[in-house]
Amino acid sequence: MIVAVHKEPSFRESVDLMFNHAVALMRLPPGLEEKIRVCNATYTVRFGVRLRGQIFTFTGYRSVHSEHMEPVKGGIRYATAVNQDEVEALAALMTYKCALVEAPFGGSKGGLCIDPRAWEEHELEQITRRFAYELAKRDLINPSQNVPAPDMGTGEREMAWIADQYKRMNTTDINANACVTGKPANAGGIQGRVEATGRGVQYALREFFRHPEDKAIAGLTGTLDGKTVIVQGLGNVGYHAAKFLSQEDGARIIAVIEHDGGLINPDGLDVDMVSQWIRQHGGISGCPAGEFIADGASLFHMECDILIPAAIEGVINLDNVDGIRAQLIIEAANGPITYGADQVLRKRGTVIIPDLYANAGGVTVSYFEWVKNLSHIRFGRMQRRQEEARHQLLVDELERLDRYLNDAWSLTPHFKEKYLRGADELELVRSGLDDTMRTAYQSMREVWHGRDDVPDLRTAAYIVGISRVASSYRAKGL
Ligand code: NAD
Repeated sequence: MIVAVHKEPSFRESVDLMFNHAVALMRLPPGLEEKIRVCNATYTVRFGVRLRGQIFTFTGYRSVHSEHMEPVKGGIRYATAVNQDEVEALAALMTYKCALVEAPFGGSKGGLCIDPRAWEEHELEQITRRFAYELAKRDLINPSQNVPAPDMGTGEREMAWIADQYKRMNTTDINANACVTGKPANAGGIQGRVEATGRGVQYALREFFRHPEDKAIAGLTGTLDGKTVIVQGLGNVGYHAAKFLSQEDGARIIAVIEHDGGLINPDGLDVDMVSQWIRQHGGISGCPAGEFIADGASLFHMECDILIPAAIEGVINLDNVDGIRAQLIIEAANGPITYGADQVLRKRGTVIIPDLYANAGGVTVSYFEWVKNLSHIRFGRMQRRQEEARHQLLVDELERLDRYLNDAWSLTPHFKEKYLRGADELELVRSGLDDTMRTAYQSMREVWHGRDDVPDLRTAAYIVGISRVASSYRAKGL
């Protein structure tokens, strides 16, 4: 067990230091740097809910970092450690992240100090509805001003309650469904949103592995197939990333770190089995998929090709950074590496695929969901059958050729069924996400390799994001 000995900046200070490091390499007009860095407003609410025969008082936050574009966007987190500094840091990250992946939003974030595991479902619903009421009446939930989404401790269920609460308060708002994203598919959601952030991590790694020079910097070769991976946090993001990387790309998940310990299996853990165990037992202790280690955080020091922190902020810090052996870290969580640890890793040449980019899959698919809600039609509904009819024409012609040439030529097995099928919503969402992750990586990469004074992807990501926010302010005449 590592005991904290170094005093480090807070999460928000850490984000600001990373921002400062990037703007020092940019030429922004005087004063604009400060305007972009500061958080516009943070609303704190304390409200009471009568539960179990008494009144419980809860504290929640909604922070708006930048309104250069509206609505502002960012998840709502349920955790006991939620505080103003954390939501402000997360809101700032949302601003730069949305700009980096060209999602037309400003940055925001919310949180409620609560242990969701301590409450029954119907109690959580009451608490969530009351929190949503407090935010909605101040337009901190609103389809055109502020659109929350899931984050740690929340998911589809909470988003459905929030949407319903907003609708009860705004009965004539035809766009009410767009007040929050991450809703269940049968309540205005979109296919592929639950998996989106983990899927984005997979697409980010696939894009990284397409560039031999980038792999070489991390001392890696080949493809994801056979690469050893350690994941911290097997929740929504970590589970989906681990599942897709192992089941679709051949990577080996050799260890998982959870809140109650770690699990090791050098042959590769069965991610579905571990995830199911966590859901049933509340932790990984006792899971037969691998060897249990009580000091989970010590597994950060295990040798692996790729390290994926996917739980909370500040887990790789000055107290444990020296033992980190992975040459490639992808920040699936927000802020998992402190500013101090980032400097150490940067000097050492470890490649870090930064949170701004790595976990942007969630907000990207949230953007698609918001557009779907505003257009009141599912993606692909107009084109799918027409596309299939046109494909049928081509297949008919190829089959005619096939008959004409007798056995000299024939269609490849399964070509017909694969080609004929028009894309459904899930395929379109994945295609849009893949395109977004590739394009954003290339924009970071251009800065990373194109400038001698930008030695790492994080600085490049900040430069791309901040310059887009700056252009947007400039266009507004600021
Ligand atoms: P989640 O609540 O679904 O899962 C978090 C997991 O981490 C849980 O399994 C929890 O037990 C584990 N965990 C918590 N503290 C831990 C600790 N100290 N050590 C080890 N494990 C720990 O949350 P999530 O939605 O997967 O979010 C995880 C991270 O990803 C957060 O930083 C969040 O901000 C970020 N993120 C989430 C989304 C999204 O769409 N959900 C989008 C972008 C970024």
